Amino acid sequence: MNRITGKTKLLGVIGDPIEHSLSPIMHNAAIEQMQLDLIYLPFRIQPSDLEAAIAGLSAIDLQGFSVTIPHKQAIMPLLSEITEVATTIGAVNTVWRSDQGWKGTNTDIVGFVAPLKTRMRSAVQASWNSSIAVILGNGGAARAVVAGCAELGFAEIHVVGRNAAKLQEFARSWALDSLSVHPWDQLSTVLPRADLIVNTTPIGMSPNVDQSPLTDQQANQIKSGAIAYDLIYVPNPTRFLQQAQQQGAETIDGSEMLVQQGAAALEIWTRKPVPDAVMRDALRNHLGLVS
Ligand code: NAP
Repeated sequence: MNRITGKTKLLGVIGDPIEHSLSPIMHNAAIEQMQLDLIYLPFRIQPSDLEAAIAGLSAIDLQGFSVTIPHKQAIMPLLSEITEVATTIGAVNTVWRSDQGWKGTNTDIVGFVAPLKTRMRSAVQASWNSSIAVILGNGGAARAVVAGCAELGFAEIHVVGRNAAKLQEFARSWALDSLSVHPWDQLSTVLPRADLIVNTTPIGMSPNVDQSPLTDQQANQIKSGAIAYDLIYVPNPTRFLQQAQQQGAETIDGSEMLVQQGAAALEIWTRKPVPDAVMRDALRNHLGLVS
């Protein structure tokens, strides 16, 4: 904090609540390493104050900001421009200044696909275009996951959800031949064929660490060599990832997505290469995880 001067520029994250956000930890660690005269702060903004707050953030010359729950959709009409990717997902998580005003995008796709792209380096996963993805849940994060799987070229993308009306609405919102949706009780029809299984539900998130979206019987259907990916990052590993590991699956936890969506945002704001390893270490240290 000693480095703050009259010239220091501001970045931040808006949400409500905001106390639990891990973004300030990651971003300020990277900013320090990059030796930039910037500081990244949390701003608790209630939904009814959003419009006034955005005008205020312009007035105080904020350079850019992250957007979290509950503002990811509500902010969209308040921006002067929105990228195609954010329009497809239907949510904005990163905002920056352009000549016209605030511009918004969504870096969750970049965050989601980053660890999968690393896996592609292995000979077995030379390409995803004959692979099958099964996505558990059909909420906000599932939209970024579907877009990410489509970008990687998955042959089949199956979304499994518990609410028939929401599931149909989800299906209708995509123009994607590879996408199909299934009620939860039909999970067994697709799970045994899955090369990638992604948990986008909050089931198993702390404090409910004994829960999993899969029963043990369902987990037995995961094929050896599949990739199990949980967007949850606390606990680490989740019960779902433990079940998958027992089946011989590779696992990916949600911390890397969190790091990579943040690194992509910081790169937009600074237009400089971002030390994602510094962000990863800061996050893992904060969460008490072994790096
Ligand atoms: P969301 O919009 O509320 O969506 C949650 C989805 O899970 C909905 O489809 C919901 O179904 C379903 N669901 C919830 N409880 C369920 C249950 N008991 N059985 C079956 N389905 C259930 O939330 P989100 O923003 O997508 O976030 C989802 C998870 O992803 C959270 O754990 C969040 O922390 C994590 N996340 C991680 C990152 C990262 O960077 N690692 C980024 C974004 C999100 P209904 O629609 O029927 O309620």
